[in-house]
Amino acid sequence: MRIYNTLTKRVEEFKPNVEGKVAMYTCGPTVYHFAHIGNLRSYICEDILEKTLRYIGYDVKRVMNITDVGHLSSDGDTGEDKMLKGAKREHKTIMEIAKFYTDAFFSDCKKLNIKTPDVVEPATNCIAEFIHMIEVLLEKGYAYKAGENIYFDTSKLKEYYVFGNQSEDELMVGVRDDVTEDTNKKNKNDFVLWFTKSKFEDQALKWDSPWGVGYPGWHIECSCISMKHLGEYMDIHCGGVDNIFPHHTNEIAQSESYLGHKWCNYWFHVHHLNDRDGKISKSKGTFLTVSLLEEKGYDPLVYRFFCLQSHYRKPLEFSFDALDNANTAYQKLKKRCIEIKQEAVKALGEEKANAILAAGLNEEGLKALKELGLNVDAIKDFDAKFKDAISNDINTSMATTLVYDVLKADIGAAEKLALVENFDKVLGLDLTVEKESAAPAIDPELEKYILEQIELRKAAKKEKNFAEADRIRAELLEKGVVLEDTREGVKWHLA
Ligand code: AMP
Ligand code: ZN
Repeated sequence: MRIYNTLTKRVEEFKPNVEGKVAMYTCGPTVYHFAHIGNLRSYICEDILEKTLRYIGYDVKRVMNITDVGHLSSDGDTGEDKMLKGAKREHKTIMEIAKFYTDAFFSDCKKLNIKTPDVVEPATNCIAEFIHMIEVLLEKGYAYKAGENIYFDTSKLKEYYVFGNQSEDELMVGVRDDVTEDTNKKNKNDFVLWFTKSKFEDQALKWDSPWGVGYPGWHIECSCISMKHLGEYMDIHCGGVDNIFPHHTNEIAQSESYLGHKWCNYWFHVHHLNDRDGKISKSKGTFLTVSLLEEKGYDPLVYRFFCLQSHYRKPLEFSFDALDNANTAYQKLKKRCIEIKQEAVKALGEEKANAILAAGLNEEGLKALKELGLNVDAIKDFDAKFKDAISNDINTSMATTLVYDVLKADIGAAEKLALVENFDKVLGLDLTVEKESAAPAIDPELEKYILEQIELRKAAKKEKNFAEADRIRAELLEKGVVLEDTREGVKWHLA
């Protein structure tokens, strides 16, 4: 696996701290509003990164925070609290806003086939951890109290601009016009670790601390939450490019000062989605969401496909014309993949085709495919090319091209099906999935019977008794029940 590391500004060979295991952290959403499709570009690319790591054999533990406190309008610690702004706008409490938009975020992720990280932790769960880290930073002399807030002292570091080469303009990326300079700071880049005094007296979420009642700064969340779940050494940390400064720079400053050693080896940053007027951002007021795309009749996966056509390190310009082109290409590709599936079913029967869909391309899966009579050498060949493409700094457009190459290749439908289905574990485009229609109400007795039959069929398949599995499927079909084998298990619906 080769990956661009923002820390070294080079594409490097990826070597985790512990062989075979990856500790991965992602900056989660600030849940004061819906995620816009720009935010979701970052989460799609990070999802592809995680799935690539898993696909090439790593055991990944991925952690993500939910920012439900402390993120101010300006990334430079001034302006209004974003959560408070959301609560005022909707006449709700901060926790109601946080719950509503956290759920909305994961619902969007589901529609875009973005896997939920192994651990998701809201910042408000970890106040004790934040306080502990701040106490240690004060003890070690890296923090100071001024104007009743606690600040990190950036002058104590040998190197603060760890990502290097930033111009003043780039450094000001998170700062907006309507913010005022904080005169308590000893140095321009010092940042707040804990607020006890803020200009908005109506701050709703406050906790007791050794320095008085207050609330944490935004950057401390990610340092503490990642260490809580991943320990003192992290392999890869992700976010959008706007997180490089000040957020990730400050995370490194406080984490390494607290730990006394290097913290994270690789930094993965996704470039912005822009529209004709520039970066898509929530603070602009109106912005594009997944629901809006759905209202306009687009399958959310068309947006995922659109994102996969460009490289994550390049800015991507959104327009409905470009999305329409992606839609046409996606529908055509999907239709071709479904035809391949149907060809395979016709040639081999439903049960064998389903066994192909279920087989991975690891040793065990290849053995199963060989037993089913497939040309395993051709499969291995294409899979190696796919792995090369996707593990070359997450080249998603090249990896997608491999799907087209497979479809055109001089190999059987069964081999094509095995390959496409496996590539889709990374791409997440549901290439072989036909859309299900909503199921009508069902008699509970019939439902109980169906579930029993599904279990019996599972057992028959485990014993490679495909004839019996086929018989059960046919019998259910006679009763008007259709079975479908999917990656998530067997699903059924009424015919
Ligand atoms: P936020 O909810 O503002 O904390 O942002 C969530 C994630 O989306 C962060 O990783 C940001 O860096 C990222 N992000 C924000 N705007 C964009 C954009 N226009 N394009 C891509 N990613 C973005
Ligand atoms: Zn973060």
